[in-house]
Amino acid sequence: MPQTSGRIAAGVDWGKLDKLVRGRVFLENDTDYPTAKQIFNTRFDDAKPTAVVRADTVDDVAAAVTFAAENDLVLSARAGGHSYVGASSATGAMIIDLRQLSGVKYRDGEAVVAPGMTLNAVYRELDRDGQTIPTGMCPMVGISGLTLGGGLGFESRRYGLTCDRLAAATMVLPDGTVTEASPTTRPDLFWAIRGGGPHLGIVTSLTYRTCPATPKDVVQLAFPGELAGQVIAGWLTWLGTAEPSEWACVSIDADGRGGLKCWMQLVCPAKEGIQAAVALMGATTKPLNVDYRSLNHMDTVMYLAGGSATQPRATFTCGSDVVTELSEDAIAAVIEAITEHSRAGGTGWVQINTLDGAVRDTLPEDSAFPWREHAALVEWGNYQPIPHEQAAAWIADAHRLIAPFSAGAYVNYLELGDPMERYYAHNYPRLDDVRRKVDPRNRIHTVLVS
Ligand SMILES: Cc1cc2nc3c(=O)[nH]c(=O)nc-3n(C[C@H](O)[C@H](O)[C@H](O)COP(=O)(O)OP(=O)(O)OC[C@H]3O[C@@H](n4cnc5c(N)ncnc54)[C@H](O)[C@@H]3O)c2cc1C
Repeated sequence: MPQTSGRIAAGVDWGKLDKLVRGRVFLENDTDYPTAKQIFNTRFDDAKPTAVVRADTVDDVAAAVTFAAENDLVLSARAGGHSYVGASSATGAMIIDLRQLSGVKYRDGEAVVAPGMTLNAVYRELDRDGQTIPTGMCPMVGISGLTLGGGLGFESRRYGLTCDRLAAATMVLPDGTVTEASPTTRPDLFWAIRGGGPHLGIVTSLTYRTCPATPKDVVQLAFPGELAGQVIAGWLTWLGTAEPSEWACVSIDADGRGGLKCWMQLVCPAKEGIQAAVALMGATTKPLNVDYRSLNHMDTVMYLAGGSATQPRATFTCGSDVVTELSEDAIAAVIEAITEHSRAGGTGWVQINTLDGAVRDTLPEDSAFPWREHAALVEWGNYQPIPHEQAAAWIADAHRLIAPFSAGAYVNYLELGDPMERYYAHNYPRLDDVRRKVDPRNRIHTVLVS
């Protein structure tokens, strides 16, 4: 796979593109350029995209992609702007900003969603019809970016990944061709965009099979930090007996003084929370604190999002490992990694998400997302004020400690310069084959290497 080339955009007739689109083209000398290129992670505020093209219509997207092909430009889409590696504001790339493309049309169990929608906006729109799709928890993440990399959240055990609910998509390929991708039209592309999507073209419409939006019980349990290993092991035992409609994830936070805080978020159908929490406590240990709420679906979404539909921009450095089995030694490696970080003054965290339940209803080779027979996704996270260099060094150490148990990583938690195989494992050759067919001239920006 290529990296963004240093193609110089000198001699490009940007005025021509500006006339072609209903939206707007922002170049480096425009006063609005710094805002137009801004994404969620402030770490990429110095990035210098060649241009940012605000697409106001789907035709604008096609015009911009065709223009990029004619002028030999590397391009990248920008939806929610939550890329971990700044891909949607990449230096040297022409950014196609999709945020003006919004709207959800629901009918008979299917929702057609525009690519510029945030998760919160999709939840809100579908909730009007008593519907939902399984997505993540952060309100301003883009539905496009999340779906194209997989999409893991509090209903994954019950309904699968976000990409598992995808029934069809419309996309503009790097040569400007508009195509459908579905199980019957371009099935190769449909296979590839479900997990490998950011590397293939610009998706302009996503059709999902929806599920009912139902009330929930939400229980947060805080445990003694020194028992974090026991909590992870107990959580695994609990997962073995819990209904697919019951979901919980484990978080361990470093306090920067050598100590840990361990807590768990449990979400399950209304009226089942107490029983599920008792089972979870029985499998783990006595919690220090329990916070129980019974909420309707939209209030659950808002609560898990931290109480707001927006989130301030932040500086962060994160990474991940997918573990095949969370053995005693693997759990010990997780605890050692986060404890070392805390001892060194770090205030980062580890979040462990299960990959069981409905995630396994799709076979590992039936979509580009490969992690269907694996125990868990371990995310290593660090927000300000820990400097990027310190955070990156810790994540590199954590990768080393967990390496004997790691099968790869999650593409939505992308890290710079990784080999593509790390994210796609056995599915990499097939994905690369599709990508070479649709993007032989490497027009779509990527930070991954082959
Ligand atoms: C605070 C936070 C919370 C998160 N929570 C979760 C979570 O709960 N579950 C989870 O699974 N992930 C989560 N993520 C990860 C998130 O799914 C990825 O970062 C995802 O890529 C973000 O998509 P975006 O549209 O917001 O970002 P963008 O930066 O706009 O896009 C990300 C990538 O996708 C490409 N892309 C976006 N839209 C399109 C399109 N329409 N067509 C083609 N390519 C496109 C971009 O070019 C870029 O390469 C979280 C990230 C953050 C920062």
